[in-house]
Amino acid sequence: MTSEQRVVVIGGGLAGLRLAARLGPAAAVTVLGEESHAPYNRVLLAEVLAGRYTPDVAALPAPGPVLRRGVRAVRIDRDVRRVHCDDGTAPEYDVLVLATGSNPVLPPLRGLFPPGGGELPEGVHAFRTMDDCLALDAAVRPGVRAVVIGGGLLGVSAARALAARGAHVVLAQQAERLMERQLDADSAALLREHLAGLGVEIHTECRVRGLTTTPAAGLTTAPPAFEALGVP
Ligand SMILES: Cc1cc2nc3c(=O)[nH]c(=O)nc-3n(C[C@H](O)[C@H](O)[C@H](O)COP(=O)(O)OP(=O)(O)OC[C@H]3O[C@@H](n4cnc5c(N)ncnc54)[C@H](O)[C@@H]3O)c2cc1C
Repeated sequence: MTSEQRVVVIGGGLAGLRLAARLGPAAAVTVLGEESHAPYNRVLLAEVLAGRYTPDVAALPAPGPVLRRGVRAVRIDRDVRRVHCDDGTAPEYDVLVLATGSNPVLPPLRGLFPPGGGELPEGVHAFRTMDDCLALDAAVRPGVRAVVIGGGLLGVSAARALAARGAHVVLAQQAERLMERQLDADSAALLREHLAGLGVEIHTECRVRGLTTTPAAGLTTAPPAFEALGVP
């Protein structure tokens, strides 16, 4: 790699930024990151939601001008080696890196999306980005009822964080135990005990099939439709 080589990295998450830092001045690096927030450590989002950390604690070292924040790559033209972005720019590359991470798996629940697709209903959230975290943060308050669908790492983290904020949390997990991919039965039982101690109501072998929402559902203390969505 030479310092004249143009490296375009799509994705300003941990992987993309770490690569940019490692390359340093050895190449002309541009990182395209669609999120508008300053780069952050996604792993710490549950602690931010719990109120234990402020968002700035989760910040990653500033990457400097290599990162173009709030810019989404929408098309790659391999013939002329250009990446087309949603702001109309089209940087050229010698080397292109895809570090786009993943999207939440949204289960095929009845009522999750309006017919023909669209946005998640009001009061329903995925849990992956800082925007998700801040939206949940704005919605949660003591006594609010929150249903977390999914008892994997993210569902458990979200349930714990929401309970720490005083929400009444119901967690629905389709497997027979929590975090079934990571934990054996004994460890999962300990985790269940811990969450129950925080006031989380846990339902295992509970497959959620659908949800109903009211126009202004939001996160309210009223008898709920499903209100919060954690994705395992
Ligand atoms: C709450 C939470 C807790 C977690 N805890 C742990 C943990 O304890 N341990 C662990 O190992 N992992 C954990 N993870 C998973 C970990 O965060 C991911 O494995 C890690 O973030 C992956 O890094 P990445 O850079 O590959 O992808 P990401 O962090 O997803 O970054 C990809 C970036 O690319 C951007 N992007 C996507 N498409 C485009 C495009 N077309 N144009 C421009 N930008 C684009 C996205 O907006 C995103 O910012 C957790 C995740 C979450 C959400």
